Amino acid sequence: MAAAPAAAEAHPPSPLDKEQLQGLKAIRDFLKVRTSYDVLPLSFRLIVLDTDLLIKKSLNILTQNAIVSAPLWDSVTSRFAGILTSTDYINVIQYYCQFPDEISKLGQFRLSSLRDIEKAIGAIPIETVSVHPSRPLYEACRRMLKTRARRIPLVDVDDETGRETVISVITQYRILKFIAVNNEHNTVMLKKSVREVHLGSYTNLATVHMNSTVLDAIHMMVDRNISCIPIVDAENRVLNAFEAIDVIPCIKGGAYEELDGTVGEALCKRPDDSPGIYTCGEGDRLDSIFDTIRKSRVHRLIVVDDDNKLKGIISLSDILKYVLLYGEEDGGHRS
Ligand code: AMP
Repeated sequence: MAAAPAAAEAHPPSPLDKEQLQGLKAIRDFLKVRTSYDVLPLSFRLIVLDTDLLIKKSLNILTQNAIVSAPLWDSVTSRFAGILTSTDYINVIQYYCQFPDEISKLGQFRLSSLRDIEKAIGAIPIETVSVHPSRPLYEACRRMLKTRARRIPLVDVDDETGRETVISVITQYRILKFIAVNNEHNTVMLKKSVREVHLGSYTNLATVHMNSTVLDAIHMMVDRNISCIPIVDAENRVLNAFEAIDVIPCIKGGAYEELDGTVGEALCKRPDDSPGIYTCGEGDRLDSIFDTIRKSRVHRLIVVDDDNKLKGIISLSDILKYVLLYGEEDGGHRS
C-alpha cells in the first residue's frame, strides 16, 4: 500500500484533508480508550486444539465448527502454543510438494509437528504476538500491523496458577467491524476516495483463472505473501477470488493429490454461507467502505472499473494500516 504521510503532500491540507485527519484521529482516540476485550461479543465460544491432535483431524474440526483458525494448547507444558491458521495447512502442502515420498507419513503428523514442517520447507515462522485483553485495542492493532498478523490472541494469566489462558482471538475483520459499528459519526468524515488516499495495491497484481490449478494459486500466495488472489477471465474481468482458507476443504480427507484440481472446482467446495466477494470502484469514498464493513462480512474489497475489470485489491490490513498510521508523525515506526 502506498499511503504517504500527510507531511509529504505538496499542497497545504484542504478542508477535506482536515476533516479526514480529524475523523482518523477520532477513530484512533476511540481505539485508545477501548480494550481488546470490548471487541468480544457478550457470549462466544472458543475452540482450542491440543497440539497432540492429528493434523488431519484438525481439518475436520475446523470444518465441522465452521471456523478457519484455532488457538493451540500444549498440554505437556500447559502453555498456549500459537494459532492454527490456513497458513499452516499451506505449509503442509508445500512440505508434500517438496518431499512427495513422505506422503504416507502426512496422515500421522500432529499439530505439534507444524513447527518442524515450517523449518523443513524453510518458511519464515510467523511471530505469534499476543495482548492482554484489558490493554487498549490500539496496542493490539499496532502489534498486528508490525507483525503482519491477521489475528491476535488475547492472553491472560490465571491468578491462581500463574499460567497463561487464551481468552479469545480477535481478527482484523472484527476490529474493523467494531470501528465501523461504533464510529459512524467519525467514519462519515472520511470523504476522500480510495484513489485519493491510494488505499490498497494496484500494480503487479497476482491473479489466476478459473482453470488454474489450486497448487499454482497456493504457490503464488506463498511467493507473494498474500492471502487472496482475484480470479479473472481472459479480459481481466473479475469472476471471484481464491482465498487462503479455500485450501481447507481442498485437503480435508487427506486428498493432497487433488490439489491438481482447478480453482473453479475448489470454489464449489466452499460452505453454502460463504460471503462471496465485495467490489468497489477507485472513486468510492472511505466512508462508504466503512458502511459496507458495518453491514457485511467483508474480508477484502476488489477494486474494479465500470466493466468489472480488475484494478486493484484492498485488504483489511490496508484499511487498518491507513486508519492507524496515515498522517502519524512517526510514520508508524513505534511499536
Ligand atoms: P493480505 O494478505 O490480504 O493481508 O494483503 C497483504 C498486502 O498484499 C496488502 O497490501 C494487499 O493490498 C496486497 N495484496 C493482497 N492480495 C494481492 C494480490 N492478489 N496481488 C497483489 N497484491 C495483493
